Amino acid sequence: MHEIDQTGRVTVVGAGLVGSLLAMYLAKRGFQVDVLERRPDMRREEIGAGRSINLAISTRGLHALRQVGLEEEALRHAIPMRGRMIHSPSGELAYQAYGKDESQAINSLSRAWLNKFLMSRAEATGRVRIEFKQRVQHADFQKGVLEVVDESSGSTREVRTPVMFGTDGSGSAVRRELTLLPGHGSAQEQLSHGYKELTIHAGPGGAFQMEKHALHIWPRGSYMLIALPNEDGSFTCTLFLPFQGPVSFESLQTPAQVKAFFEQQFPDALALIPDLVHDFFQNPTGTMVTVKSAPWHVDGKALLLGDAAHAIVPFFGQGMNCGFEDCVVLEECLGRHTRWQDAFEELFRLRKANADAIADMAVENFVEMRDKTADPRFLLEKAVEKVLLNAFPGQFLSRYTLVSFSRVPYRLAYEVGAIAGGIVAELCAGLTRAEDVDLQRARTLIHERLVPFVKEH
Ligand code: FAD
Repeated sequence: MHEIDQTGRVTVVGAGLVGSLLAMYLAKRGFQVDVLERRPDMRREEIGAGRSINLAISTRGLHALRQVGLEEEALRHAIPMRGRMIHSPSGELAYQAYGKDESQAINSLSRAWLNKFLMSRAEATGRVRIEFKQRVQHADFQKGVLEVVDESSGSTREVRTPVMFGTDGSGSAVRRELTLLPGHGSAQEQLSHGYKELTIHAGPGGAFQMEKHALHIWPRGSYMLIALPNEDGSFTCTLFLPFQGPVSFESLQTPAQVKAFFEQQFPDALALIPDLVHDFFQNPTGTMVTVKSAPWHVDGKALLLGDAAHAIVPFFGQGMNCGFEDCVVLEECLGRHTRWQDAFEELFRLRKANADAIADMAVENFVEMRDKTADPRFLLEKAVEKVLLNAFPGQFLSRYTLVSFSRVPYRLAYEVGAIAGGIVAELCAGLTRAEDVDLQRARTLIHERLVPFVKEH
């Protein structure tokens, strides 16, 4: 028997989205999985769902759910969003499809529902035991010992484990311990913007008060508002605003200031958010961070996955999708190797450049969403992109489509996206209408630049 097959029990730290899914993968491989979770059980106690009420799941995340047999049920609770609906300050709407046609959509899903669903399905395998209110505060990787605080009693105990997985999110305690080891490092960059969640309630009879199948964006330069639909007819809005500056969380101190700001910038949203002032002052202001760490493992004893290894800002809707893809790749690595260390090393080698790429694309997409989506030039480029996607299927590829609707490595999506973006920009020079794009020239550029690059990779 090989080392991996011989290991009976493993421990996962954190029963968030990635930890719960990982537990399921490991259980399917035959391990007994002990999961230690700091929070109470959200299926029994009313607790804040954590960061963001809903999130967008796309091809990578859905693929992972499919592998463990959960995609269909998850999709039954999701709302497809087929494009962006841009709201101008005067309330005019402009729609941009995300993909080449209606079939390409990202899906809005309740984070709390998904987390509960994953925990329950992991437990239902009969091999996963989740212990709640158990906070890991220290890890000794060589001895295989975790020091765990019981949040109810305050008592501390030791948990022994041959292999541990750190899926304890962006502020990971496991990562903190790991970076104390020689040769390990981690860099964090806090965004100078924070976010605040607000609610657009369902209309009479649970009706959606705005287009249901779109991700709504109110782009306003250095800040923006977005809204994603929920199953019950409501929308969760997220206001992204600098912490400090002339228009910032710091500058909005009174109900009158908040109302005036919305009246001026988001009048159509204001009309739909009756609890604006209450929500604004009651709801916490969230922070966003990019974490790049390396390596993600200690020999064959510990491995970081998900936000613990690589937290990213939310503007590409890929943090969870990327963490779920980690699980897919780990599963492949475990199938190829007999020793944990070899599997962990390969996983890190395969994933690191891709995690870095999506981290960078997420930051770039912030600028695109808050700034460029209101720019007529950008709208023209997106329209031309769509023409090319349809005219040259399989040959012309856009960054957004590759990230959201394919499973090609993020690094490749980044590089192909840069080439494709260059082609679109060149074709748009002097153009006023997407229909007038020179398809002959487009074909030449695609065959000169994009096709050879994709073939080579
Ligand atoms: P988490 O979900 O943070 O889970 C970590 C778990 O570990 C938690 O349950 C926590 O309680 C537990 N824990 C922490 N410390 C300890 C400890 N010491 N001991 C024991 N347990 C511990 N991603 C998308 O793919 N699509 C989106 O649309 C999207 N939108 C987002 C919007 C916002 C505003 C934000 C902030 C993020 C968004 N994300 C999105 C990113 C996504 O939320 C994360 O990538 C995802 O939650 C990561 O999952 P995780 O399991 O790695 O970490």
